[in-house]
Amino acid sequence: ARAPASLLAPADLYGAARRNSAGFDLSDEETLARIMAARDAALPDVVPLTVSEPSGQVQEVVNPATGDRLATVMMADAATAARAIDDACPWDAPAAERAAVLRRAADLYEENFGPIFGILAKEAGKTLADAVAELREAVDFLRYYASEGEANPGGPRGIVGAISPWNFPLAIFTGQIAAALMAGNAVIAKPAEATPIIAAHGVRLLHQAGVPVSALQLLPGRGSVVGTALTQDPRVKGVVFTGSTATAQTIARTMAANLTPGTPLIAETGGLNAMIVDSTALPEQAVRDIVNGAFRSAGQRCSALRCLYVQEDIAPHVIPMIRGAMDELVVGDPWDLATDVGPVIDTGAQGDIAGYIAANGNRVIHKLEVPTRGTFIPPTMLRVEGIADLEREIFGPVLHVATFRGDRLDQVVADINARGFGLTFGLHTRIDSRVQEISDAIHVGNIYVNRNQIGAVVGSQPFGGEGLSGTGPKAGGPRYVPRFFAPDAPEARG
Ligand code: GLU
Repeated sequence: ARAPASLLAPADLYGAARRNSAGFDLSDEETLARIMAARDAALPDVVPLTVSEPSGQVQEVVNPATGDRLATVMMADAATAARAIDDACPWDAPAAERAAVLRRAADLYEENFGPIFGILAKEAGKTLADAVAELREAVDFLRYYASEGEANPGGPRGIVGAISPWNFPLAIFTGQIAAALMAGNAVIAKPAEATPIIAAHGVRLLHQAGVPVSALQLLPGRGSVVGTALTQDPRVKGVVFTGSTATAQTIARTMAANLTPGTPLIAETGGLNAMIVDSTALPEQAVRDIVNGAFRSAGQRCSALRCLYVQEDIAPHVIPMIRGAMDELVVGDPWDLATDVGPVIDTGAQGDIAGYIAANGNRVIHKLEVPTRGTFIPPTMLRVEGIADLEREIFGPVLHVATFRGDRLDQVVADINARGFGLTFGLHTRIDSRVQEISDAIHVGNIYVNRNQIGAVVGSQPFGGEGLSGTGPKAGGPRYVPRFFAPDAPEARG
């Protein structure tokens, strides 16, 4: 029987071609057996480059949960990047054919869930639940952009440089590529330095699905070398980047100095994301959403909750509840189904976050114990006066908590806006007029009411920020693919 209309995901309105992935049932024995087989399987020892003449430089990739060496990855240098640009050729197949290839790639991604979860857990320290969410999002991007590009064909810009982060090393990596390809461009993808193996796996599946090698090349390497090469070669006609605000600013300057004026930069960057919980909120629900938003994915999402404001009359009740919920978090082995929080990405991140927590030791309200082997960080709650006390975005499981008086709500909103970031914001309240007022006043890309503020769903919740958090258009929304069209295409307008 069909589900009643009200239970269908919005994507269902557009038919099967655009339906979001159903995900994977980790309680299914066969599914779990395939995942565990991937845990025990070795990764390829050497991950090759897609360009014909590699640079000869290599990089060792390690497992953050164990410190074990995973594989040797060939790296590109500036000369390799220049060769990739020489070889790049926009994908001139009709839009319907490109869409069919991307849909085939989505199917291949889903069929390959075992090896994909294996690489995500080993290389990025993803918990299995996070790996499921990540693969779903990657597949959703492929199908959504396929449908969007098919419905609104436009002309390619030419060569697009795609520079992606380690925190969604398959989903964001694939989303950038899929959108640029669906507009007919040639893509040169530079994965994050920490996660080239999953990127190489994704590219292999995209090529297997039918994306020509000249339309999609992979260049693992250093940001300062490959990223710079891609953002200063005037043959590059568009750049898409997700990562830190500081890197986006460097890219914008490099592009301005070297590329054709008007070459677009689509940047999705950091945030100092807040949530306000007022005294009408349902505490149990708010606490669940706070803990998920701050600590899931070890806080390594740009959407994650960083600064919580609790109205002071309920704070004596809510803060102990948060502490209690934190105590229930299982921190540890990504392969254990019970694990909620895995390691952070590498020893550099671990040192940085641990140093921040140590420097703020007098503010600690609660801090968990974590395994000593591997790059784990204890989920930590710190007391602050307000968002102005946050020095910078700490990309890990650290939640800052402030309280506010009911008559100071406008000031809280003003303080959040004053930081200049604008990615996600959460609001827990039962007052409808307050939802409207605060939504109008707060300057962020994604507002979530009475739920957590992570895990935007492709096609339903376009994701992206304003101010220091990014340029737009939002990923997973209808304006994203058209941004990759040449400006003379009528579809590029609006
Ligand atoms: N789209 C993700 C979310 O909604 C965050 C992406 C990121 O961390 O860059 O949680």
